[in-house]
Amino acid sequence: MEGKKCSMLSPAVSAHTNQLTQLDTNRPVVGSGPVLFGLDAGALAACMLEIGEPVWRGRQLAEAMYRQWVTDLGAVTTLPKPLRGRMVAAGWTIGRPRIVQTFVSNDGTERYLVEGQILDSQTVETVWMPDGDGGEAGDGSGADVPRQSNHESGKEWRRATVCVSSQVGCAVNCQFCLTAKLGLQRNLTAGEIAGQVVAVLDKHVVEIGKERVNLVFMGMGEPLLNYDNWMAAVRLLAKEVGISPQRMTVSTSGVVPGIERLAGDPPEVRPKLAISLNAPNDEIRSEIMPINRKWPIEAVLDAVRKVRLRPRERITFEYVLLGGVTDQPEHAHQVAGLVRRSGLPVKVNLIAWNPGPGIAYQMPQPEAVERFQRVLAADGVPVYLRRPRGRDIFAACGQLKRTTEGAK
Ligand code: SAH
Ligand code: SF4
Repeated sequence: MEGKKCSMLSPAVSAHTNQLTQLDTNRPVVGSGPVLFGLDAGALAACMLEIGEPVWRGRQLAEAMYRQWVTDLGAVTTLPKPLRGRMVAAGWTIGRPRIVQTFVSNDGTERYLVEGQILDSQTVETVWMPDGDGGEAGDGSGADVPRQSNHESGKEWRRATVCVSSQVGCAVNCQFCLTAKLGLQRNLTAGEIAGQVVAVLDKHVVEIGKERVNLVFMGMGEPLLNYDNWMAAVRLLAKEVGISPQRMTVSTSGVVPGIERLAGDPPEVRPKLAISLNAPNDEIRSEIMPINRKWPIEAVLDAVRKVRLRPRERITFEYVLLGGVTDQPEHAHQVAGLVRRSGLPVKVNLIAWNPGPGIAYQMPQPEAVERFQRVLAADGVPVYLRRPRGRDIFAACGQLKRTTEGAK
């Protein structure tokens, strides 16, 4: 961001890193002046300098937006009132994404439609899972801690997971995924990605540092195909909001250049890595995930091997069990072989396929799921079964598609 003018740092500009350049720049954004949410401390300081204010005013803005979660520029009381007035008059706005609709599941999961910073009527989906989704078990994040109420605050969760979207829709076209049906509508801005998290934490009055929150970039879209904006959001969430990257997990369908970029980035801002393996071999994987034709399993594993892992860190292989297609015992044996040959410290997360309209797969039989898990465990592979969360409100994995079903 250094060297750029403040007025150039609107979300419309940061959104056009990838495919949708033309479309995005033509869209109106929240506010006529700079939209501040999503800018890092350096960029905020540059904004203040441009209007003749000292750079430390940028720090004050960052504190207000990312620590105190102020959403109205006029209410940033650390800035002198006349300055606030001047900024508002010039069209400056915080522009934090807003939750516009909430769906509550009978298992406590909540799904939100979030209005972004680019006013194109595309909402973003975010999911709140009190007590995690089971997917983090065994990764040291504390997901194994049994549920009990947080008596001091009266809250009913000990730790929660926020599932974050990185794009509206997705271009990867996995055959079993509902989000794929949307195609790629657009990339989210850094402010829209980080804003989902802050809006949800704000709603649940989460105390950062005191209460345990995990982030999973497993909502709509392929994070590594919106790398710049996604990584800018990760940095904001880590440095400004105060969530450790070790509590974040990014899931990818296997975008090799993205994994390689991640390997080259400083480890202190790298979330943990989950690979959507989903199939026991290239043949089946290419059929259900067309991206495998470009980057087959071995190419993905080669890229993963370049990532410098933290002590005790494991790579997660996510594995969606499709009834009759990927859930047979021979598939489990192949997955175990693949894990062994990879030489990587791996844990496998099994996810029973969540159905969606217009997708012609079958859910796996419970016995098949159990058998699959047993085969892997017998082979010494750490294996966990992810509980389906919020299926009744279309909040479970692969069900995010801006549906309004499940409204209460
Ligand atoms: N695009 C990224 C992250 C979002 S998808 C990725 O594919 O990894 C998050 C996870 O949900 C992936 O592991 C994906 O394989 C899984 N998934 C997609 N559709 C699903 C469905 N219908 N049922 C269960 N899991 C699904
Ligand atoms: Fe995109 Fe992930 Fe769905 Fe595949 S599973 S279409 S990569 S969101």
